[in-house]
Amino acid sequence: MRVDILTLFPRLFDGFKEETLIKRALLNGCLDLHIWNLRSWARSKHQQVDDTPFGGGPGMILKPEPIFEALDDLLQDRNSKPLVVYFSPSGKLLRQSTLNELCEAENLIFICGRYKGVDQRVLDNLVDCEISIGDFVLSGGELPAMVTLEGITRLIPGVINDIESATSDSHYKGLLEGPLYTRPEEYRSLNVPDILLSGDHAKIADWRREKSFEITRTRRPDLWKQFIKNVPAEEK
Ligand code: SAH
Repeated sequence: MRVDILTLFPRLFDGFKEETLIKRALLNGCLDLHIWNLRSWARSKHQQVDDTPFGGGPGMILKPEPIFEALDDLLQDRNSKPLVVYFSPSGKLLRQSTLNELCEAENLIFICGRYKGVDQRVLDNLVDCEISIGDFVLSGGELPAMVTLEGITRLIPGVINDIESATSDSHYKGLLEGPLYTRPEEYRSLNVPDILLSGDHAKIADWRREKSFEITRTRRPDLWKQFIKNVPAEEK
């Protein structure tokens, strides 16, 4: 998968690229990541990429020309058209299902907003989907881009050694994951549930499923309602 990220703060991605999951995906060729400084496409002498809003009002807006021209360059010589994503608090809320869908794309272009956001002509003409990572406002699209990219990368076959580890996580199948324990069996008189030490794999699977149902029902009735609606009766 090739991912291109347009940002005014490329260095924010330095550590992100150099550690753990993303580093592994880059090294083993599962991910081809390009971070671009939007300012390189600025025309004016002062490399200005933002301007005041027409109609007045506070804040600065990212100008259309650098983004249009960056996209012209990035779209050259591509076999398939990349999906262009803009991060915005008014976008579609990011969910596991969104990540599963994005993971199918061969080429993604992420545009990170700053200041008040981008000129509407960018959104109307260049962007395929707008994604929000939650009902709050950050100062830029870089963290949302990292959140999204990390969520996608762990789903690319070959990145996580044991893919079942990812597919058993919360949200993958519409449920939350239940409690997990590791050694020691007893710590400060706190014990691991007997069932997990029993060696009876069928019973352990049932227990885990029951706990996952319980936590989803109590913490996220919205997800539980959806799960009940979607899952065939024999699997409940
Ligand atoms: N004026 C905008 C907010 C701008 S915040 C509005 O009211 O909607 C600056 C940039 O940070 C945005 O352009 C966007 O790219 C990014 N951003 C902030 N919060 C975000 C969120 N919850 N999800 C995704 N991107 C976000």
